[in-house]
Amino acid sequence: MSVKPARTRFAPSPTGHLHLGGARTALYAYLLAKKTGGQFLLRIEDTDVSRTVPGAEQEIFDGLRWLGLNYDEGPDIGGPYGPYRQTERREIYHKYIDILVKSGHAYPCFCTPERLDAVRQEQQKLKVNPHYDGTCRALSQDEAARRIANGEKHVVRFKMAQEGVTVAHDHLRGDITLENKQLNDQVLLKTDGLPTYHLAAMVDDHEMGITHVVRGSEWLGTFPLHVNIVRAFGWEEPTWVHLSVFLKPSGKGKLSKRDSVDANKDGYSVFIKDMQDLGFTPEGVLNWGALMGWGVPEGDVMNLEQMVERFSIDSLTPSPAAINFQKLDHFNATHIRLFTTEDLAARLKPYFTREGLNVNDDTLLKIVPLIRERLVTLDDCLAFGAFFFKEDVNPNPEDLIAKGLDAKQSAQIAQRAYQILEEQPTISHERCEPPLRAYVEESGLNANQVFGILRVATTGQKVSPPLFESMEIIGREKCLARIKNAIEVLEKI
Ligand code: GLU
Repeated sequence: MSVKPARTRFAPSPTGHLHLGGARTALYAYLLAKKTGGQFLLRIEDTDVSRTVPGAEQEIFDGLRWLGLNYDEGPDIGGPYGPYRQTERREIYHKYIDILVKSGHAYPCFCTPERLDAVRQEQQKLKVNPHYDGTCRALSQDEAARRIANGEKHVVRFKMAQEGVTVAHDHLRGDITLENKQLNDQVLLKTDGLPTYHLAAMVDDHEMGITHVVRGSEWLGTFPLHVNIVRAFGWEEPTWVHLSVFLKPSGKGKLSKRDSVDANKDGYSVFIKDMQDLGFTPEGVLNWGALMGWGVPEGDVMNLEQMVERFSIDSLTPSPAAINFQKLDHFNATHIRLFTTEDLAARLKPYFTREGLNVNDDTLLKIVPLIRERLVTLDDCLAFGAFFFKEDVNPNPEDLIAKGLDAKQSAQIAQRAYQILEEQPTISHERCEPPLRAYVEESGLNANQVFGILRVATTGQKVSPPLFESMEIIGREKCLARIKNAIEVLEKI
């Protein structure tokens, strides 16, 4: 069966950091477009100018690119339906608001904020839901035009039907029915001449040929209003897909600002910009996010390409999903094991260099197979591999003392190991392991004692990748110098 190519969009407001929820919305919209051979576009919804945060837009561009969710059209790349920033589309909204006013679906409202406040207080006293009382609904078009010509400040409101019901169809939840009298005459155009979300998003989705509106469930409350606006214009409705909400890790209650602070304390984050710093991979983050709201029928480890292959909006679920950072670790570690050596090396390099280490690319390629299985996050490479790129390792003196022995005995062992290694022209696994094992045998020591000293001496740490492979990469001269240093340290204890 051939499917019509979908045009989808991610439409964030530049009011804060791009977070997991936004990224997941973008992901599903992207997958739907790519699955059907359509386009995915980015639109910046910046009409609430007072809430715009400098830098937030750039963070959205960077975050989406880091995730690999490359948009086909957007503010920084253009496209046939631009501009893609709402503050640059004023005239378009004015054209459409005129259509609604002329057809009687919208009206100018001259009520002052003070008056609206008084109305609200009165309604609160009477214990009725706050709503616009409809004063300006009754003005004739001529009267309204005269007041506008006089320069009176005004907004434009949607004229909601006061009788009957609205049935709005969500792809995941089915029909949602609401009595029209519960819907307010919402503001579509503000006094600053900019539209509200309700008008701007509906106009843009129509103008940009959006076939599926994939968005957060916070819009379910105003969803019937949106459907009414689209119908007032006489447009074909897009398919509406309201995604599931995220719950706290405990599963109790919606994820809050506070939870993101707690996440940071544990070395996690819900903000995409932090994910890279913390050593997460786009593959890990996307795979993790994808499964919170998508019941995938087969296998759950997927890169973006595999997600596109398997995606269907019919398998999205509206049930809330609890954030589980252990699963993020799991997916991140799993993807790290799937990267090629070259790819992983390139991804690890920045974590070494940001610590001021001088990375030799050949060495890096050699250590990747040794440390790969130990990495949960990319920055774990420092714990397992920083010593490869250091001149000196400065081990903790206490760590050089082998279990069951004292400093003097440990120094003697290090001395003997030094002699054995010095006799070898190169330090390779094949050359060093047999004579050192022979020494273990004849000395009656156990292997852990001898190799433990060597490990701490050459790597500076008690836990490291396999010892002989590591020593081979560190190289003969450096290994010998490090062991010599360890002997001196032990002799001073
Ligand atoms: N600007 C809205 C937001 O950031 C977008 C909602 C939508 O996708 O339509 O929540």
